[in-house]
Amino acid sequence: MPLLGCIADDFTGATDLASMLVKHGMRTVQVIGAPGASDPVPDADAIVVALKSRTSPVEQAVAESLAALAWLRAAGCRQFFFKYCSTFDSTDRGNIGPVADALIAALGCGFALACPAFPANNRSVYQGHLFVGSALLNESGMEKHPLTPMTDANLVRVLSRQTDGTVGLVPFATVEQGPAAIRDAMTALKEQGRRYAIVDAVSNAHLAAIGEAAASHALVTGGSGVALGLPENFRRAGLLPVLSDPGALPDATGHAAVLAGSCSRATLLQIATARNHAQVLELDPLATPDAKTLAAQAIAWMQGKLGAAPIVIAASGTPEKVAALQQQLGRDAAGALVEHALADIAEALVTGGVRRLVVAGGETSGAVVTRLGVRRLRIGTEIDPGVPWTFAEGSGPSMLLALKSGNFGAADFFLKSFAMLEAR
Ligand code: ADP
Repeated sequence: MPLLGCIADDFTGATDLASMLVKHGMRTVQVIGAPGASDPVPDADAIVVALKSRTSPVEQAVAESLAALAWLRAAGCRQFFFKYCSTFDSTDRGNIGPVADALIAALGCGFALACPAFPANNRSVYQGHLFVGSALLNESGMEKHPLTPMTDANLVRVLSRQTDGTVGLVPFATVEQGPAAIRDAMTALKEQGRRYAIVDAVSNAHLAAIGEAAASHALVTGGSGVALGLPENFRRAGLLPVLSDPGALPDATGHAAVLAGSCSRATLLQIATARNHAQVLELDPLATPDAKTLAAQAIAWMQGKLGAAPIVIAASGTPEKVAALQQQLGRDAAGALVEHALADIAEALVTGGVRRLVVAGGETSGAVVTRLGVRRLRIGTEIDPGVPWTFAEGSGPSMLLALKSGNFGAADFFLKSFAMLEAR
């Protein structure tokens, strides 16, 4: 039976959390969207339900999160985790506060800690204030975010505006004293009637201590960082064996390919690097602004090229090209056109025998897994920070997928991904 049930407010955040749990010894499966009552429970120590609730209407975010919680409870999970972004991405209406309020009410636990800190990614919380590197959140660029502008770095204040409960703080000096002091401070806040405690953390040692202090909490909320301390609680309680390879994945024999729809700088560099080592097709949606024709070009090109050596098909363009297409079609239509073409191509790749596929781009990954009918990903070992190999199980084709958020990964990410599989 699974031990930890997690609800993540976006897809790549879910993978990030799942990867963290694997690294700390839990076999983890990511489920895409709230599962239905008849969906079988995967064989895993942790399950992460990936929602798209960060910016959806509050009522919808709450309803989907509660549905996910109900399913995870029925699956037998003993503790629950609500994962949001390490920059606390939300508006004054939510959705972090309303979703956490609803989860607390459903679990009847009355209290949860909130800690988005992720020092390995330069996110720290000090005296309740969230820093990105040395900048306060509201001076980090996040104040200009198009959907969730963060104009206040004081998380006690930010969360207070999103909940009808009250918010306290477990400050750095207490966190420094270790798990017992943190636990006592949280208990005291709960007894004072606080619903939340923002907990300071500037190092992984702090996160581990917070995790230990939260061993008996029904609900923990935060970024993927604070989850690093939770697996050890289950091991300590004799519920989680020490596994030699919690990220072990079944093999998938078949051809290899990369599909890129991200136009982020890291992805453009990865495509340029791959040109020296692999057959690369670069589509030009500006010259051919039609999804079916673009897909047909790629499908014609791939004939005779599929095999163990990866081919790369990219729609990605420079910022100038992207801007030109967006000007011609509008931003959403431009994105949808390219996503449609790449989903068609993904389908053709799988029909052609591809079973090892790297997809570059968050939205692009969403379009590809939806088209392939993938609902579940077993999480493997990381290729680069935040990007693991995964195995699609249940519905859809049984295959290995690496879904890369645009800016993640080193220059040689594509080739490194497949080399890692060969080395297994
Ligand atoms: P990232 O993770 O880098 O943000 P996404 O896949 O989430 O990548 O977003 C990239 C968006 O850009 C997608 O909607 C994709 O369809 C679109 N896109 C890809 N190539 C082009 C292009 N040449 N012109 C315009 N839009 C493009």
